[in-house]
Parts: sequence; structure tokens; C-alpha cells
Amino acid sequence: MLGTCTALQLVLRGHSVALIDRRAPGGETSYGNAGIIQREAVEPYAFPRDGRAVLKVAFKRGMDVDYHVGALPSLMSPLARYWHASAPSRYRDIARDHCRLIEHCLTEHQALIAESGADALVRKDGYRLAFRSHAVMDSMAARALVLQERYGIRYSLLDGDALAHAEPGLHRRLAGAVHWEDPWSVSDPGALVQHYADRFIALGGHLAEGDAATLTAVAGGWSVQSQAGPLTARHAVIALGPWAQAASCALGYKLPLFVKRGYHRHYRGGPGLQLPLLDAESGFVMAPMADGVRVTTGAEFARIGAPATPVQLAKVERAARELIDLPQPVETQPWLGNRPCTVDMKPVIGPAPRHPGLWFNFGHAHQGFTLGPASGRLMAEMIEGTTPFVDPAPYSALRF
Ligand SMILES: Cc1cc2nc3c(=O)[nH]c(=O)nc-3n(C[C@H](O)[C@H](O)[C@H](O)COP(=O)(O)OP(=O)(O)OC[C@H]3O[C@@H](n4cnc5c(N)ncnc54)[C@H](O)[C@@H]3O)c2cc1C
Repeated sequence: MLGTCTALQLVLRGHSVALIDRRAPGGETSYGNAGIIQREAVEPYAFPRDGRAVLKVAFKRGMDVDYHVGALPSLMSPLARYWHASAPSRYRDIARDHCRLIEHCLTEHQALIAESGADALVRKDGYRLAFRSHAVMDSMAARALVLQERYGIRYSLLDGDALAHAEPGLHRRLAGAVHWEDPWSVSDPGALVQHYADRFIALGGHLAEGDAATLTAVAGGWSVQSQAGPLTARHAVIALGPWAQAASCALGYKLPLFVKRGYHRHYRGGPGLQLPLLDAESGFVMAPMADGVRVTTGAEFARIGAPATPVQLAKVERAARELIDLPQPVETQPWLGNRPCTVDMKPVIGPAPRHPGLWFNFGHAHQGFTLGPASGRLMAEMIEGTTPFVDPAPYSALRF
């Protein structure tokens, strides 16, 4: 999403651009997410500060977070910094910076959706957070009110009857739901990226297969090897999502990046859902998609590339089946992806500090699908040297 949107935003401004990927655009994390353009996600996911919540994770009692014990030594430093950044006094400023990008997510997606003719993929009627208990629903309703007052986020509350009426496929009566009204949802997230990539090509952009590991500085710019031969340009943007760490490290940058892995599987044959539904107490999403109901998991802390351990998905499947029928799994093996995270919950968008003509656009964590067009526009305006529509200072790599 991030690389494709950056390329499209640049070509729309009349630049000559090549988009290089080792596979087709929209085939990795931007394919496998829950497909929600999260206008309500004004505050990023903080590390829990309450001892009980940390113990729940440590003893693997919930299904929203899991971890590989073997990955803990390498994760200690980023997790300690993530915890530190989540302290209320620091988190307030981080949320303010996060919100300044999120507030443009719908308008910037809309511009690219119209540009690429992707309207049929997008539903514009929000998504719901469902609650099994009244106590949790009451505390979330109080938080929704704060988000409405502080940021203008719109929502409505549904009691158990209203939720059952809105989602007739639910076979269990729940306490109710918060319906976030602003977000949009996409029936095939990979296809939306592909639409943006097709528009990029139609406008004269060059899509090439190649390996970012071959990126090298040359006289007057940057060069990368592709199937079509070497490609050279004055500017290069690293927008490799979870793989940005390897590429930036190779150029001498030690950025505090890590991944939160996530799984999904589709199911066909049941009554399905009208809108994406997040089971707020268990931390998983069920989203109606082109391939069936996509059930996605929360976070797994593990090394990128470590073997899949879909225990969370097994637990989530059981919890999801308490709510709706999920008769036929579509895939034999669950999909596994990596949310590209930074220790302070903000993406890295801006110039590479020690390399003229090199730019970074990655680390969008839980909201990269949401932020692609806005972040791509900011990147394009910075490369052009025009006044950016959002102050880029909070996202600079220099903060590390
Ligand atoms: C389960 C789950 C649910 C999620 N739900 C949501 C959601 O509802 N809403 C939301 O906003 N976000 C969501 N996210 C987060 C979102 O998916 C990510 O933040 C986003 O997709 C990151 O996009 P990206 O372009 O940075 O990375 P990617 O989509 O992973 O793209 C990276 C690209 O780099 C390419 N690449 C890698 N290495 C090389 C190389 N050496 N050479 C060439 N190319 C290379 C890859 O092929 C890939 O195309 C979710 C994530 C997960 C895992």
C-alpha cells in the first residue's frame, strides 16, 4: 500500500516513476489485513501500562496477544521503548501526531479510489465493536464519547436487540455494540492496491520486478537491479513495510523497528456479516470479504520469517464460531503477515538522514492500509519540495 500510493502520488504530479517489488503490488501485508480504513483510529495501539493486562499477556491468558519465547531477547529493547512511549504524558503527544495523518485518510483514499475506479470495492458505512458483557461495553461507550468530544469521531450505540437486527447472522445474543460510523471497509484489500497500481501504470508509471537489496548509491542518484535491467533515478523511496529494517540496516541505519505478526483465514457457507465486526473482548475481527468472512487475529510478537504458529487463530476460530457459522475454511493453511511497527507508534516518513535523495516511508503498524494515500502524498510533496499538507517533522527518522 505504501509503496504503490507513493508511486501513484508522484506520477499524478507528473514525475517519471518506477515501482519495484519482488512480487505483484498488494500481495503482502496490504493483502491480508482486515481491510478497514480506520478513520476512528486517531490514537495508536499503546503498550498496556496496567499490571493486570501485562500479566494476562505474559501468561498467554488472552487470545489478542501471543509471543515466541525465543524471540524475547531480541524484542526486549524495542518492547521496553514501546512501553516507555506509551506512558500517558508521552502518549498524548504521539496520539496528536498520529491523528494529524489519520484525519486525512478518507479524503486521500477517496481521491485515489475515484482516480482508479475502485468504488465497487469500498463500503462507506463504518464497522462495529461488539461486546459480550455490559461492563466492557459501558467502559468502551465512555471512551467513544471521549473520542467524539476530542476528535469529532462519530459513533452510535446498539443494544443487544439492535445488534441482532443489524447482524441477523449472529447466533448469540450479545450485550451490544459501538458502531463507528466514519470508517470505510474494503471487500478485497489486495485488489484495492492493485487498482492503485493499475492507475499508476495507466498514467505512465513503470512497474518492475526487482530486489530492493540491490539498491546502491550512484553518481547523481540511486540504482536498483530489476528484471528489465538496472533502473536509475535521482530519488529512491524505501517503502518495504516489515522488510524496511533489513534494507535500512544495510545502508547503516539502526532504526527501532519490530513486527507484530497476524493471521487470517476465510470461511464460506454461512450467513456472513453485513459489516466488519470486532469482538472487543477477544481482540479479533470478522470482515465480510470477496472470498468469504475473513477472520483476523491480534498481535504475535515473533521474528519476521520465523515459522508460523497459528495457535491464536485456533482460539479465535473457536470464539468466532460462538458468534456466527463459519462452515468451510477456504485456505488449508492460514495466511501470516507482519505489521511493520516502530517503538513510538508513529511511522517513519521523510528523508534518510545521511543519504541525499533517499527517502523512508514505512512503519505504519496497525494502520498502514488506512494511511497509504495520505502518507504517499506527504512523501511526494516532500520529494518535490512543495509545502506539505501535513507537518512532516513528527515522522522524521531523526527522532531516533
Ligand atoms: C492481521 C492484520 C490486520 C490488519 N488490519 C488492518 C486494517 O484493518 N486497517 C489498516 O489500516 N491496517 C491494518 N493492518 C496493517 C496494515 O496491513 C499494514 O500496516 C500495511 O499493509 C503495511 O503496508 P506496507 O506497504 O508498508 O507493507 P506491505 O504491504 O508488506 O508491502 C511491502 C512490499 O515490499 C515488498 N518487498 C519486500 N522485500 C522486498 C525486496 N527485498 N525487494 C523488493 N520488494 C520487496 C513486498 O513484496 C511488499 O509488496 C493489519 C495488519 C495485519 C497483519
